[in-house]
Amino acid sequence: MRPSQAHARMRIGIDLGGSKIAGIVLGEDDAILASERRAAPQHDYAASVAAIADMVQALEQSAGGSGSVGIGMPGSIAPGGRVQNANSTWLNGKPFASDLEACLKVPVRLANDANCFALSEAADGAGAGARSLFGVILGTGCGGGLVFNGSLLDGPRGTGGEWGHNPLPWATADEHPGPLCWCGRRGCIESWVSGPGLEADHQQQTGVALSAAAIAAGAALGAADARAALERHASRLARGLAHVVNIFDPEVVVLGGGLSQLGHLYASLPPLMAPYILAHDTSVVIKPPRWGDASGVRGAARLWP
Ligand SMILES: [Zn+2]
Repeated sequence: MRPSQAHARMRIGIDLGGSKIAGIVLGEDDAILASERRAAPQHDYAASVAAIADMVQALEQSAGGSGSVGIGMPGSIAPGGRVQNANSTWLNGKPFASDLEACLKVPVRLANDANCFALSEAADGAGAGARSLFGVILGTGCGGGLVFNGSLLDGPRGTGGEWGHNPLPWATADEHPGPLCWCGRRGCIESWVSGPGLEADHQQQTGVALSAAAIAAGAALGAADARAALERHASRLARGLAHVVNIFDPEVVVLGGGLSQLGHLYASLPPLMAPYILAHDTSVVIKPPRWGDASGVRGAARLWP
């Protein structure tokens, strides 16, 4: 049985990732009342729904009450309520929200994981107090979320803030047409600036396959090839971000995901972006995340007011 509504102000946030599911319960004053983490089912839609329902129940038991349920996930919800563009491909085309609601017997809100990240960092993270924020996840993929006046900007197609599958702006001759992306297009920003994009570029230029972490470590030790790869990566990221700044003009850009740990980016990106920014004031604030990976669950909980 579901507990009573005695703790109706509790907000449950679930972050469904490629390999793990994390969950928290945010209480009043945003204290974390309970948390859970477990492996995510692979290639099994019914098991994914059941695992989330099970985690919600476990969180409610730990916290001693029920609450609203928000879920961050790869991809987004298309008109009609079905999942689109998830790299956990077994979710695609499925009525995820209605199936979860049938299990949980409460309304659920679903949002793209980068949107949850942006919402969390805007609420009480690195962008707290900013009126407009662009949150970027640079990891195995490249997502984005826009927050304005405390609310996510998402439109009728559910893809607001998604910038990773636009083409790399101001591409040079040797960057055109660019690598083939999983989405079927060539030269997507994601295929250049994500972790796998950085690794592929390093391998293409040097013939040596290294992880993004190994490239960063090599650069720190002065390896010329690794440094050059990071310079090309920063230039591409700067052009991609400048394109968004020209459209949305955010007060702050917050980076998340594994590549947000590349500490050089915060100083190097603004001057690299400046030549591409239309405004006379070319200064753009780029910040590391406050909550890091935890912004996924924190933002999911915040999908409900
Ligand atoms: Zn693409």
